[in-house]
Amino acid sequence: MTRPPSVDALARELADVGLPHPLLVDAARAAIAAGDPSSARARAEAMAGALLGPVINATGVILHTNLGRAPLPALPTVAARRYSNLEFDLAGGKRASRSDHAARLLARAVGAEAALVVNNGASALMLVLAALARDRSVIVSRGELVEIGGGFRVPDVMAQSGCRLVEVGTTNRTRLADYRSALDGDVALVLKVHQSNYRMVGFTEDVGVAPLSTLGPPVVADIGSGLLDASTPWLAGGPPVWLAGEPAARQTLAAGAGLVTFSGDKLMGGPQAGIIAGRADLVALCARHPLNRALRPGGLVLAALQETVLAYLRRDGDAIPFWRMAATPVEALRARAERLGVGKVVDTVAVAGGGSVPGQDVPSAGVALDGDHAARLRANDPPVVARVHEGMTICDLRTVDPLDDPVLAAALLHHRTGDTSTGQGVSNRHQLAGGPG
Ligand SMILES: *Cc1c(COP(=O)(O)O)cnc(C)c1O
Repeated sequence: MTRPPSVDALARELADVGLPHPLLVDAARAAIAAGDPSSARARAEAMAGALLGPVINATGVILHTNLGRAPLPALPTVAARRYSNLEFDLAGGKRASRSDHAARLLARAVGAEAALVVNNGASALMLVLAALARDRSVIVSRGELVEIGGGFRVPDVMAQSGCRLVEVGTTNRTRLADYRSALDGDVALVLKVHQSNYRMVGFTEDVGVAPLSTLGPPVVADIGSGLLDASTPWLAGGPPVWLAGEPAARQTLAAGAGLVTFSGDKLMGGPQAGIIAGRADLVALCARHPLNRALRPGGLVLAALQETVLAYLRRDGDAIPFWRMAATPVEALRARAERLGVGKVVDTVAVAGGGSVPGQDVPSAGVALDGDHAARLRANDPPVVARVHEGMTICDLRTVDPLDDPVLAAALLHHRTGDTSTGQGVSNRHQLAGGPG
């Protein structure tokens, strides 16, 4: 069996695209099959451009779910090319738990007896319900049966976990008496879900964690996004005003919740992960449940999470890109926009994103170019993702690492002068600053 020589020859001509030969063969074969061999290079470049890689986020959406949510703090060497003590007790020389590192530090950071890390916020809630409430009732307010995005609907997650949903109250108003009237011997948990991505205004009422925790069954608060600690000791200037009113894990536990669940990326600016924290007996039940084995994260994620929590415990918000971006004064962004020396300096509105703090604008600044340059900026190497608004291309600097400013300026300059070089190869994307340290 030999390949038709023309496919192989065409693939060899594409070697400089930087993809492994079998993928170049795929591109060549597809081009020939389409009757257009000259399209082989564009096909191969499109393949290279679709590989997972860094981009410059100039959208002003700080936690952009399509762009990987939070850029990570500097990763420790444990994450790459090394074995690690992931499940090994170095002092005793025996098997240990992967909860001994990041999870233990997280418990410390939120004042919990124990914590457990799983793959994301959705799996955290799923595991809690499956481990603590299978075949039993869970009371939830009708105002909190939300859809978070990406197919996460609270009633569906509850159904999948095998618990019985007991709805109380109405969409806009739920009182403690509503919960109390639903109490019977079968109730395993009272669930409180942060509305995250929407707000109700007007004639509304809901019940806080403290009164709920007087009802008897453990209260599980799925806060999703928000803060580790409302007093934000890792920020010199305190929490930004646009975060006011967001729930905080430490205070939710202090108010009496048996468990809190939240996202490692949305709430902490860390890697994609889900955290369950609270009472040791409840966390232990989750840890022992068979689903935990299916939902456990790998060493890469745990190493990134550990680094993130250590930064919180050191009270070093600067080491966490999310907080560095969130806390940058708008004047500093404006000064950077001036220094870019391309386009018009404009005031912009950034948002937290990730389905958190809806309607809360984050004052920001950036540069604007006349016309729609979004597609060409995405084709830049490295790709730049910008917004187009009223015929202008807007690059918001709040979400751009200052070390990437020169790269952004060069990309913008190209487009202004009409240089349409596509350059979609994988070759230059590693030149991105890629966060701190
Ligand atoms: C985002 C969110 C989730 C899901 O978290 P992921 O980490 O995205 O899986 C669950 N509950 C709430 C309240 C959320 O805001």
